[in-house]
Amino acid sequence: MAESLPTVGFVSLGCPKNLVDSERILTQLRAEGYAMVPDYDQADLVIVNTCGFIDAAVEESLETIGEALDANGRVIVTGCLGVRADEIRSRYPKVLGITGPHAYEEVMALVHDQLPAPHDPWISLIPPQGIKLTPRHYAYLKISEGCNHRCSFCIIPSLRGDLLSRPLGEVVAEAERLVESGVRELLVVSQDTSAYGVDLKYRTDFVAGKPMATRLASLARALGELPAWVRLHYVYPYPQVDQLIPLMAEGAILPYLDMPLQHGSQRILQSMGRPAATERVLERLRDWRQECPELVIRSTFIVGYPGETEQDFQELLSFLEEARLDRVGCFAYSPVQGAAANRLPDQVPDALKEERLARLMEFQSVISAEKLSEKKGQRMIVLVDEVHENHVIARGPGDAPEIDGQVIIEGSWEVQPGDFVEVDISGSDAHDLYASMVGADNT
Ligand code: SF4
Repeated sequence: MAESLPTVGFVSLGCPKNLVDSERILTQLRAEGYAMVPDYDQADLVIVNTCGFIDAAVEESLETIGEALDANGRVIVTGCLGVRADEIRSRYPKVLGITGPHAYEEVMALVHDQLPAPHDPWISLIPPQGIKLTPRHYAYLKISEGCNHRCSFCIIPSLRGDLLSRPLGEVVAEAERLVESGVRELLVVSQDTSAYGVDLKYRTDFVAGKPMATRLASLARALGELPAWVRLHYVYPYPQVDQLIPLMAEGAILPYLDMPLQHGSQRILQSMGRPAATERVLERLRDWRQECPELVIRSTFIVGYPGETEQDFQELLSFLEEARLDRVGCFAYSPVQGAAANRLPDQVPDALKEERLARLMEFQSVISAEKLSEKKGQRMIVLVDEVHENHVIARGPGDAPEIDGQVIIEGSWEVQPGDFVEVDISGSDAHDLYASMVGADNT
């Protein structure tokens, strides 16, 4: 487990288009857990996004690369000047890598090679499979850093400090730039999305000149006006989540909540130091589903937490039975260096943790399969992820990339990744839906 976060310095030169690329790279870096630092000497590496428009801009870009190399030594170059890679290399043979403009995938690949992202199930905001590259049509939008809770198994607060929300106007502006650059789905992430704005006392900020409170409901409403799907992750079941459900019911944001609940036994939740009581969660789920029947809920759980008895585990299964969550992920508890839970007595043997993990996943797979089969016969808008010779892979409103299932459409179709298409759901299994295309060109 990484004790300190990998740090990146970033210099953005040139025009607003270059700034959009910079924002895209910075968004991805932040979402993957890199810390951005303002000084060369605090950075593990530096990215220089260059301009090559006029001679003066070229000279400024080259000088900036030189400065970064002198001060830090580890430099990745991107942007318009990157197309003149030979020129850069002949002057600065030590640069780690060079890409042209709008090449954020290649920039991220270079960063991953030189400075791997922190991988830890307790602190990662995006799934390890998703860390390599985010396709152009979806992007993670990080709205805050840190967390005010002190869950016993987690070291986020000691690593990143208390909650620090980004200003509402800044987040919305970044989202607008992402959508302008071709993003069709915004994945809102943070350590505690429901708490957005608490640290700023919900202060008023401005979006397109309009005053708005810095809180999750206003953010969701503002993002919901963009021509993109908005999917919320890490939403804890606080009362303010009630305000999001009408936005989902009216279609402003996706009817999807990724809500890490961690356990179903009150005793274990208390030992974990988790905020919400199970009973209230079940009540809230009932109310939300009544108001927005399409709501899809994903959650993650930990089994084998210190002191977890068979009875606690059974309570977790009963909770799952009653909650009937659509998607469930589960981890076997493993100690994280520096976490308070390491000092707890009655650590559960590894074999038992694994056994409970397998039992939980088997138990839930029946529920997930039943929930998916209810979608058979529905007409649905889906977002195309991959186009193959004989089939198309897409996702529906209930499927977050990398962690949930897919919608598989048989046949050869003239569509592109990032297109929204209409389908009829014809079948399902425990993870995926199968569908036929409505009104697109067959090739
Ligand atoms: S809510 Fe708990 S688990 Fe989540 S980041 Fe905060 S301290 Fe960690």
